[in-house]
Amino acid sequence: MSRPFVYQSLPTRVIFGYATSTKLPDEADRLGLRRLLVLSTPEQAPLAAEVQNLLGDRAVGVFDRATMHTPVEVTAQAMELAGSLQIDGVVSVGGGSTTGLGKAIALRTDLPQIVLPTTYAGSEMTPILGETEGGRKTTQRGPRIQPEVVIYDVDLTLSLPPAMSALSAFNAIAHAAEALYAPDGNPIVSLMAEEGVRAIVDALPRVMKTPGDPDARAALLYGAWLCASCLGTTTMGLHHKLCHVLGGLFDLPHAQTHAIVLPYVLAYNEPTIPQAMTHLARAMQSDDAIAALLQLEGECGIPLALRDIGMPREGIAEAVEQVTANPYANPRAIEAKALTELLERAWAGGEG
Ligand code: NAD
Repeated sequence: MSRPFVYQSLPTRVIFGYATSTKLPDEADRLGLRRLLVLSTPEQAPLAAEVQNLLGDRAVGVFDRATMHTPVEVTAQAMELAGSLQIDGVVSVGGGSTTGLGKAIALRTDLPQIVLPTTYAGSEMTPILGETEGGRKTTQRGPRIQPEVVIYDVDLTLSLPPAMSALSAFNAIAHAAEALYAPDGNPIVSLMAEEGVRAIVDALPRVMKTPGDPDARAALLYGAWLCASCLGTTTMGLHHKLCHVLGGLFDLPHAQTHAIVLPYVLAYNEPTIPQAMTHLARAMQSDDAIAALLQLEGECGIPLALRDIGMPREGIAEAVEQVTANPYANPRAIEAKALTELLERAWAGGEG
């Protein structure tokens, strides 16, 4: 018998396929929404305009200033527009930054969200919101934050450049890896995590070679969805905590930090997570999951050292202090000396 567990599924409706954006008007009608605000980053404003067209008179406006890490000032601007337009829901089209803004509006208003993801970061499947105020990022969970509908349209991911696709895919792998050893893990999550990593590891090299290959993109998005579902229902450990601290302290780019740190955290936890390592090795089709991850990162041209993305070496002590300040879930106890060594290695790059 497997060990005892609790499994709670999340209520999001998921639509997956090619050209599925065309189903957006029907989904808005299903929810009875007549006054939607479309959200995007400035770079994806043309896509937001297409989505607005698709919605016809169900869309009453566009807010195209979504920003990484959901600054509260930007949310306040969007809330002002939402109030003046008397919206009854939001449509977020983009990556985690845009989804974050939609979640922040939903948290404040309890309005429904429809998300059309265009990266592999996975925020759309979680009840988690990170917001930044005065340079500090705080994270919370709650049912209002969880999007009601997610429309995965493979076609929307074709434009994501290969380098960004690889980083985003490693962000997704990190969700699955930590779900495999989460204290609230369970057999369904482990199945999803292993299958998610398997799909990503199989599809990513094909996307790197032919970014416009719709089948490879579909397989990558499918894997990212599974990994995101793992993130939504489990408690993350050292890896996510460390990336959060490093991102906040040194303003490091989100997906790059995840990609660099993951093999080192896995090596740290490895002695205490034999079952998770078996799942990962099977998913990676390798006897050595950590070596396989590093190899794939190298093949995708991902930087392998924190120094390459702007972390100062003298910042290691401060990062260790922040990570060890509060207790949180991780299979291996967090010891300051071992964590310092981990960060020294991740800063310099090289074998995990
Ligand atoms: P992002 O949303 O910031 O997108 C990065 C850039 O890529 C943006 O300029 C965007 O406009 C552009 N872009 C997105 N999709 C594109 C496409 N298909 N083609 C061309 N350009 C495209 O990046 P992200 O990595 O998706 O999200 C990062 C943010 O999401 C962070 O703030 C992170 O904390 C958050 N996040 C939250 C959760 C959660 O569960 N709460 C999970 C993962 C990430």
